[in-house]
Amino acid sequence: MKRLFYIATMGCQMNENDSDTLAQHLINSGLAPINDHENADLIMINTCTVREKAQQKAFSLLGRMIALKKRRPEIVLGIMGCIAQQEGLNLLKRYPELDLVLGTREIGNISSILNRIKENSERIVATDLSVTSNIPVIHDGYFHGRLKGFISIMEGCNNFCSYCIVPYVRGREKSRSVQYILSQAKNLISQGTREITLLGQNVNSYYSSESGDVNFPKLLVMLSNIKDLFRIRFTTSHPKDLSEELINCFKQLHNLCPHIHLPFQAGSNSILKMMNRGYSRETYIDLVENLRAARPEIAITSDVIVGFPGETEDDFKMTIDLIEKIEFDNLFSFIYSDRKGTIAEKMDRKISEEIKLFRLSILQGKQKIITLKKNKRLEGKEEEILVEGLSKKGTQLTGRTLSNKVVNFSSNIDLVGKLAKVMIKNSYVNSLQGVLINN
Ligand code: SAM
Ligand code: SF4
Repeated sequence: MKRLFYIATMGCQMNENDSDTLAQHLINSGLAPINDHENADLIMINTCTVREKAQQKAFSLLGRMIALKKRRPEIVLGIMGCIAQQEGLNLLKRYPELDLVLGTREIGNISSILNRIKENSERIVATDLSVTSNIPVIHDGYFHGRLKGFISIMEGCNNFCSYCIVPYVRGREKSRSVQYILSQAKNLISQGTREITLLGQNVNSYYSSESGDVNFPKLLVMLSNIKDLFRIRFTTSHPKDLSEELINCFKQLHNLCPHIHLPFQAGSNSILKMMNRGYSRETYIDLVENLRAARPEIAITSDVIVGFPGETEDDFKMTIDLIEKIEFDNLFSFIYSDRKGTIAEKMDRKISEEIKLFRLSILQGKQKIITLKKNKRLEGKEEEILVEGLSKKGTQLTGRTLSNKVVNFSSNIDLVGKLAKVMIKNSYVNSLQGVLINN
């Protein structure tokens, strides 16, 4: 009988993608996936450490899996992702039940690592950032029927924003080859994928010289010519590297969706400087203007941090002011969290939790009003939806607009996987209600 594996994934889309890569390696090595961790032979916890809360969540799950391992000592228990990379050997020392600590660039070595655990009962730490890159093996059929696919086009980050742990746990930037990305896209499409999101910490700095000089806009042009790929998205885009050539892609490429996630992080120039972001609020505003000139209907979403060390009341007001000027379609807002080993961790003038939470609630209140206002503007408009399946309540169909907003509407299940035209009737903060237009 096949050995069974279970992967619990936390954190960002990059982690989701890494879990898919690991799963394909495991299937190719003769294991089979199972949804129920109680009956798994191998359990891997894919962790995130970008903020303290994410880290706490990961350790609490690890505690539950350790309790399971005490009941079933034959289970192989491993931890992977950003906490694994950062803590390495410390984790094996602290948790005698852990068999494996798998770093962010060692996924491709899983098969030989599992053999060593099985044959020699070794406990293993594999956290080398310099050797391999996780070129995913393809397991034919793994993505079958997944309408939305993801391709990681690059690993790591070179930017060292002063608050961020990512460059330390994912290493330096390394772009994947054009040939790999195009063949991965074709493979996904052959399995039914119609929308592909290109992933990287800063996709704007993608560059490959293996088959001519290919930067990110050129890669987008190549992908946009692939047959049956309805929609292309990408994330994340760093404002300091958002070129005119990339902005023009929004004008020229028919299947590049009119949505960009462009984190601004703070609205005050002195905070942006301390964050080492490499742009000013004025540059950011100009970029948004250029994007809107290229594609007027483009949706703009962003990330923002409140309570960065030294953030004054005036700095915070500048952040609110920027939010009101730009009118983001949506915002992911976070309170600053100290990360071990980063430059910001060592800064003084830390902001109290109470003030951070107070500022966050003001900011989120303002954004809610803006999101609703922007969604209301869509009422009466016709939108193209890629139909994904049943809505959360299970009574309607659901899908997303080109600008990535959720729309629920009533129709026949046959539409799943297809493009449909709907008229927006009612708008809410988190979703839109539509009516199918018969073509
Ligand atoms: N590479 C992406 C970029 O630059 O936009 C984002 C990567 S990070 C995983 C996602 C978001 O987490 C960041 O945009 C930032 O807003 C937030 N973040 C990162 N470090 C943080 C910290 N120490 N405290 C609070 N939020 C943080
Ligand atoms: Fe972190 Fe900045 Fe790199 Fe994004 S660009 S991953 S925020 S260091």
